[in-house]
Amino acid sequence: MVAALVRYHEVALKRNNRPYFIGALRRNLAAAVKDLDLEAVDILQGRLLLRFGAGADPSEIQRRLAGVFGVANFSFVQRTDPDLAKLKSALLSALEGRRFDSFRVETKRADKSFPLTSPEINRDLGAAVKRQSGARVDLSAAELTVAVEILPRDAFFAFDKIPGAGGLPVGVSGKALALLSGGIDSPVAAYRLMQRGLKLSFIHFHSFPYLDRSSQEKARALVKILTRHQSASRLHLVPFGEIQRQIIASVVKPLRVVLYRRMMMRIAQALAAKENAAALVTGESLGQVASQTLANLSVIEKAATLPILRPLVGMDKQEIIDQARRIGTFETSTIPDQDCCQLFVPRHPATKASQRDVEDAESALDVEGLTLVGLEKTETETFSFPE
Ligand code: ATP
Ligand code: MG
Repeated sequence: MVAALVRYHEVALKRNNRPYFIGALRRNLAAAVKDLDLEAVDILQGRLLLRFGAGADPSEIQRRLAGVFGVANFSFVQRTDPDLAKLKSALLSALEGRRFDSFRVETKRADKSFPLTSPEINRDLGAAVKRQSGARVDLSAAELTVAVEILPRDAFFAFDKIPGAGGLPVGVSGKALALLSGGIDSPVAAYRLMQRGLKLSFIHFHSFPYLDRSSQEKARALVKILTRHQSASRLHLVPFGEIQRQIIASVVKPLRVVLYRRMMMRIAQALAAKENAAALVTGESLGQVASQTLANLSVIEKAATLPILRPLVGMDKQEIIDQARRIGTFETSTIPDQDCCQLFVPRHPATKASQRDVEDAESALDVEGLTLVGLEKTETETFSFPE
């Protein structure tokens, strides 16, 4: 049997919500490995135990569990009854034939009624391992660390401790709709908020048939990568070229980008309402480009009443790029594409659009009608993980 012991941390802090958080973590873990011969997910004291059939592939289990938010770390464990003799004999047989020059035993005793203390267990098991293997004990830089956990009804030991994705289980913070371009920033913004427990849907604006479909392909590929962390996602693809064409026909050049963004906010907000999403998410970062000055951000957000979450607002471009690489979106984000915001964009957009100028410019447009056109032509796709 293959078994993984999952430890969480932040979730343990939220005292009143604890059962709710643990329930969400349990569901998310089960969903991430449901096709890998999963037999059960047990809720133990302060930990979750995933049990798999004998044929399950630990390396695939590891890849899946490493993407689940709310996990501090996890170990592949062997279980015995909480009895020192049984634990010792299982440990010694698991170590038979394994070569190592130094080791240490690290015991955590969640069951304080167990007759021995943690240091006593360490000493007893350590002496037995030393006798069998001939290896020396090294407390600071051991080649092999044997992690032992004593719970009320079970004892476990493991030879690894694999870092988890951290954060909070997806879903516990509610739902939001993320504006996903094909660029570097917005997927990182989405990731950071999924890690804070938001379940996300995605919306992408494209200019097909004025431009090709490349930005849509990138949005799909990015949603696929991000869906590894939340098991299912919806992606709304909104044709935006016609809306841009109408803006161009009646709005002076410097204001166009801000008007595009405000139209995006309105359409996104309408879709968010349909999905019960309580906020919008963008990849904006203060001062990064002309459309992201404080003045422009504030005019853009007034087009929506929902809160707009901008997790990258205080990050440097380089920090964002580093995170994009770590989460695996950078390569896709940097594939060249035809992005709707390159379409009909002036060389010198306004850096300080005023609310008054923007509203004047919008009075020449049928803002509501354009919003409805965008909504009507929206196509929605769903993604799931595992596929
Ligand atoms: P990104 O790297 O995410 O494309 P950016 O640095 O290019 O961002 P902008 O073009 O100003 O910045 O876009 C700011 C934010 O607006 C994006 O992070 C994204 O959330 C949203 N956005 C921009 N273009 C689109 C689009 N075509 N579809 C959906 N959202 C978009
Ligand atoms: Mg962009």
